[in-house]
Amino acid sequence: SKTLYQLVNDNKKESNAVVIPTANEQHYATVSYDQLVNNSIQFSQQLAAHSIKKGDVVSIIVGNGYPILVCFLGTTFTRCIAAPLNSAYTCEEFKYYLDDMKAKLVVVQAGLTEALKASEELGLPVWQVNEVFDYDSNHTHFTLTIDGKVIEINNNNVGGLSELPEPDDVALFLHTSGTTSKPKGVPLTHKNITTSNSNIARTFRLSPADRSMVVMPLFHVHGLIGVSLSTLLSGGSLVIPVKFSASTFWQQVKQFKVTWYSAVPTIHSILISMEKQPENSPNKGVFRFIRSCSSSLSPTLLESLENCFGCPIVESYGMTEAAHQMTSNLLPEDGKRKAGSVGRASFVDVGVADDNGDLLEQGKVGEVCVKGENIMKGYNNNPQANIDNFTKHGWFLTGDIGYLDEDGFLILKGRKKEIINRGGEKISPLEVDNALLENSAIAEAVCFGVPDAKYGEEIWAAVVPKPDHNLTEQDIMEFLQKKIVSFKIPKKIFVTNSFPKTSTGKIQRRFISEHFLKIAAAATAEA
Ligand code: ATP
Ligand code: MG
Repeated sequence: SKTLYQLVNDNKKESNAVVIPTANEQHYATVSYDQLVNNSIQFSQQLAAHSIKKGDVVSIIVGNGYPILVCFLGTTFTRCIAAPLNSAYTCEEFKYYLDDMKAKLVVVQAGLTEALKASEELGLPVWQVNEVFDYDSNHTHFTLTIDGKVIEINNNNVGGLSELPEPDDVALFLHTSGTTSKPKGVPLTHKNITTSNSNIARTFRLSPADRSMVVMPLFHVHGLIGVSLSTLLSGGSLVIPVKFSASTFWQQVKQFKVTWYSAVPTIHSILISMEKQPENSPNKGVFRFIRSCSSSLSPTLLESLENCFGCPIVESYGMTEAAHQMTSNLLPEDGKRKAGSVGRASFVDVGVADDNGDLLEQGKVGEVCVKGENIMKGYNNNPQANIDNFTKHGWFLTGDIGYLDEDGFLILKGRKKEIINRGGEKISPLEVDNALLENSAIAEAVCFGVPDAKYGEEIWAAVVPKPDHNLTEQDIMEFLQKKIVSFKIPKKIFVTNSFPKTSTGKIQRRFISEHFLKIAAAATAEA
């Protein structure tokens, strides 16, 4: 297995690694693999020069762009641990995470005052990152401000590394999305990451001819490992806009000849909702494929995406603890796909376990578990989770409920914590979400359990209608009566504009019930 250093260094030096667009179409920079490797080595030399040693945690609080990639790679090149954090956190949140991960240094994008304040209050050293775009030469580079001195990360060649990282070194320290509870810290080794990268590269036949648009944040496993490092492993290139923008997406895709992108279903939904004539889209056939991961893709959305964009939509299943991908559907040339399934094991072992941690036979519903070189050894600072989340046979328990069908395809039914228990009847909220999404007037749907005196738990739902569609609770109830058995029909349905989401665009069920219980209570108080 490779290290992240080998992963980028084994590519052709002169090939493009990264494209950085700006707000002005005329101005964009391209960065070669040579520059990427060289800049990362410059960064790692700065760490060494400031006594940041092997195994030290370097927190990186920098938005999407070129510098964050260099900071990551450079940190891992010098056998330190790169720990990115969401730059939108508040001072209190930064303090919690910086303390929890025992950061030795904080690398902060200039202007992020909350992060600067938190580091100062904790007495941690701070390096400020300033990106410099030269509009005359269409060139991008950045500077680091260290102890008041400005250091250029530039095109000068600085030679090699004195010591190379090893596959078992921890390279990254990522956090889970925080969908079910407070985000958990996940240490990942070079081996974990590059194993996952090559699994993804094989699944999607990534090659140097591929170019991916980074629409997911780089502090999360999907954007960082799933998209960026997998692309760099296969010698392709990345387009990294500051953040996802539906209004510039297609212009940039076409200008830079992007061949694929990967995102959560929320982003695909936004793109399709912007199509004036989905059946006759000017964006048909632009991509080789679109990958969907990190949250359930409904069969209805999959079908409308394929009809509109005229390319395969391939759904994968990933998580932070597995350095992203665990299962995936395949490209049509490689085998059959199943809508509603997250595909087959991607070069890792995937099983389904009962409550005792014993593997169940095919077709039986239980907790999905995985084993492979991509799985983390254990959470940071969380001994209880490390006991609860591994079976006695050493399989990692994902917390997701599902089964393997006769062809080895995994069908997920939802998260263990989110299965609704209505008087003993187990309801998979995902199944009800999908039934709601079959309604052509509904853009987003989510079902959730709320406490109930009679049944213990009752099912409620909330939906966001598509633009220019009117829906009432009554319409939706009538629609559902034709689709699902009555005990699974939500007792209350809210029609709303938006749901609480994580920073990566995943619907946060853990806040949803609280959110709508408050709304219901306020409505009762008023009435
Ligand atoms: P937390 O662990 O903090 O609650 P999280 O589990 O959402 O947050 P991630 O590691 O980003 O954090 O996400 C992994 C989870 O996302 C999986 O366990 C699974 O529940 C869900 N997921 C990923 N891909 C899919 C998919 N294709 N379909 C359905 N769910 C998916
Ligand atoms: Mg999780």
